[in-house]
Amino acid sequence: MIQEASHEWLKEHIRDIPDFPKQGIVFKDITPLLAHKKAFSYTIDALAHNFDSDEVDKVLGIEARGFMVAAPLAYRFTAGLIPVRKKGKLPWSVEAQEYELEYGTDYLEIHKDAIEPGERILIVDDVLATGGTAKATALLTERCGGKVAGIATIMELGFLGGRRRLAEYDFFSLISY
Ligand code: AMP
Repeated sequence: MIQEASHEWLKEHIRDIPDFPKQGIVFKDITPLLAHKKAFSYTIDALAHNFDSDEVDKVLGIEARGFMVAAPLAYRFTAGLIPVRKKGKLPWSVEAQEYELEYGTDYLEIHKDAIEPGERILIVDDVLATGGTAKATALLTERCGGKVAGIATIMELGFLGGRRRLAEYDFFSLISY
């Protein structure tokens, strides 16, 4: 698909939900974008355009909305697909990485055999907010012997400064708020 000069038009397909899941948070709902055939295919193509498929062995999606972006990207790249999930969801032996929530901490998990030594992993999610989730996933990838080929999201919430936490990685987002 032909790429437009700016990806800003995608914002028409992202719905703001004030005070979800709790007071004070503006939730960025991507379901209108997923449901719109041009916006969804454009999003996948535009993310793919920024990375060299020859330099990506596997695409890693972060539960849950990251899966929706990672799966079509992996197919497009003819790369493997890896799910990183919240604690207790994966059925086999896992590596776990603690990450910060607004109150307290939780764990992200990956199957121990998800990554072969030296594999180049593209990490994908829908939204970059504080960057804690993406950073924890990058650490998990490295702990499993992988190399982070890049980190990509549909959007970043620039005012939260998440990008700074990922300074050592090739981070890319299509749109910024
Ligand atoms: P963070 O670790 O703060 O960068 O948060 C990123 C993760 O939380 C991603 O998996 C997002 O899907 C989700 N997230 C954080 N803030 C929002 C938001 N305002 N709208 C939608 N998802 C969000």
